[in-house]
Amino acid sequence: MTSEHTAAVAGVAVDTRHWIGGARVGSPTAFTDVSPVDGRVLAGVARGSSFEAGAAVAAAKAAFPGWAATPRAERARILHAIADGVQKRSEDLAQVETLDNGALLRSHRRGVMPRVAHNFRFFADRLLTLDLDDFATPAGAVNHVSWDPAGPCVLITPWNAPLMLATWKVAPALAAGNTVILKPAEWSPLTASLLADIAADAGLPPGVLNVVQGYGGEAGAALVSHPDVRRIGFTGSAPTARRIAAAAAGHLTPLSLELGGKSPLLVFADADLDLAVDLAVEQYDNAGQVCLAATRLLVEHSVATEFTSRFVAKAARLRQGDPRDETTDIGPLIHPAQLEKVDGFVRRAVASGAQALLGGTPNVELGGTYYRPTLLIDVAQDSEIVQEEVFGPVLTLQTFADEDEALELANGTRFGLAATVVTSDTGRARRVSERLVAGTVWVNCFFVRDLRAPFGGSRASGIGREGGTWSFDFFCDIKNTVTSP
Ligand code: NAD
Repeated sequence: MTSEHTAAVAGVAVDTRHWIGGARVGSPTAFTDVSPVDGRVLAGVARGSSFEAGAAVAAAKAAFPGWAATPRAERARILHAIADGVQKRSEDLAQVETLDNGALLRSHRRGVMPRVAHNFRFFADRLLTLDLDDFATPAGAVNHVSWDPAGPCVLITPWNAPLMLATWKVAPALAAGNTVILKPAEWSPLTASLLADIAADAGLPPGVLNVVQGYGGEAGAALVSHPDVRRIGFTGSAPTARRIAAAAAGHLTPLSLELGGKSPLLVFADADLDLAVDLAVEQYDNAGQVCLAATRLLVEHSVATEFTSRFVAKAARLRQGDPRDETTDIGPLIHPAQLEKVDGFVRRAVASGAQALLGGTPNVELGGTYYRPTLLIDVAQDSEIVQEEVFGPVLTLQTFADEDEALELANGTRFGLAATVVTSDTGRARRVSERLVAGTVWVNCFFVRDLRAPFGGSRASGIGREGGTWSFDFFCDIKNTVTSP
C-alpha cells in the first residue's frame, strides 16, 4: 500500500521524499523505482533537481559549525547510536534492500547489515584514537597535527551494495565532523531514506545528514558542481567519475573515486585446487555485480583442464532464483538495461570466437533480469570481454605458462582494483603480489576486509584510498600547528 509520500516495501514504510535539514521535502516530480526481483513498482521517489540539491547543501553548510564543534566523544556516541538503530532495524533494511536491488536476502541479513552497523562503530572508535604524538624540531619547536573537519561532503553511491557503500563513506565523513549530502543511486534509493530515519532517531542534529534522491545527471550533477561542497566521495563507474571530476575541477573540490575493476584470479599449478575452485565460483556472488569481482580466471596450463572441469561442475550446481529464498545462490541483475548490457558483451564475445562453457544467455525460464552464470574460454587478451567491466555473472578463463606470463595477463588491463593469487608457495605469493598492480591483493582468500586497511584502486579503478586513517585523511583538512619553544 502506498500513500502519497510513503511506500510500503516488504511491509516496511519508506518515505519517498528527500531528507533535508531534518525535514522531509518533496519534489514536483517522481521517478519510478522497480524491483528486479519480480518487476513490480516499489515506489515513486522524489526526483531531485538543482533546487533540492542547493537546499541540501545550504542545510549542510548551516549545520556544519555546530557538528564540527561537537566533541569527538559525543560524535562517536551518536554514531554508535546510529549503529544500534541499524541493528534494531536490520531485518527491515535487509528486506527492503533485497527487493530494491535484488541481492540475496541471506547476504543482507548475515553479512551486509552487520557490516553497515560496523561501518559506524569502526569510524566512531577510530576517531577517538586518531591523534599523532606531537613532535619537536631539533630547535624545540613543537609540531601538532590535527584532523580538522572539512565542511559539507557530497557522497554519491552506486546500486550494487547501496547501504553498505553509502555508509562506508557517510560514517567516516560524519565521524570527522563534516556534514553530508548523500545521493543514492536511482535504481536502489530506498535504504538511504531509512538511514535518514535511523540517524534522526539516534539524535543526529538536523542538517548533519541529508539525503537527496534523483538521477545522477540532475540532482547528482547539481551537487558535485556546487561551490560550497568541500569534498566529493564517489563510488561508481569510470565514465561517471570523469564527469564528476570535470565538475569538481570548477571549484577544485577534492575527490575520492572508487571505480570499477576487471580483477584477475591467478591459479598456479601448486594451488589447492579445491580452494581455487571455491574462490572462482564465489565470483558469481551478487550475480557478478561486485566491483572487486575477479572476473578473469588465469590458470597455469598444467592444471587448466582439471580446474576447468571442477569449476564447471561446481558452478553448474548454483541455484538461480528469487533472492529471498534461502537456497538461492544467484539472484537477478539490477535492471533490464543491465541485462541488455551483459548480454551484449557476451554475444559480441561469442561472435568474435569465444566459447561459452557455461551459461551465455539470459535465464529464460526465470525471465525478468536473470542471467545465467557464464564462463567464456578462447578469449583474446585484447578483446572487449577481457578488457571491459561487464558487471554481471560472466567470467573468462585464460591460461598461462609461467609467472611472467601470468603477471602480463593479470596487469594487462587499464584497471587495478584487486587481484587474487592461489598458490601454496609462499615465495611465489610474495613475488607475484609485489608485481601485481592492484589496490588489494588477496592470497588464498577473497573479499576478506578489515576496515583498518586501505581500500581503493590503482589506474582506472580510482583515485585515493579510504579505510582506517585514510578515510580521515580524505575527509579532513589536516593541519600542522608549529609552536616555537
Ligand atoms: P554509475 O557511475 O552509473 O552511478 C553511480 C552514481 O553516480 C549513481 O548514484 C548515479 O546517480 C550517480 N551519477 C551519475 N551521473 C552523475 C553525474 N553526472 N554527476 C553526479 N552523479 C552522477 O555507477 P553504477 O552503475 O551505479 O555502479 C556500478 C559501478 O560502480 C561499476 O563500475 C562498479 O565497479 C563501481 N563500483 C565500485 C566500487 C569500489 O569500491 N571501487 C564499489 C561498487 C561499485
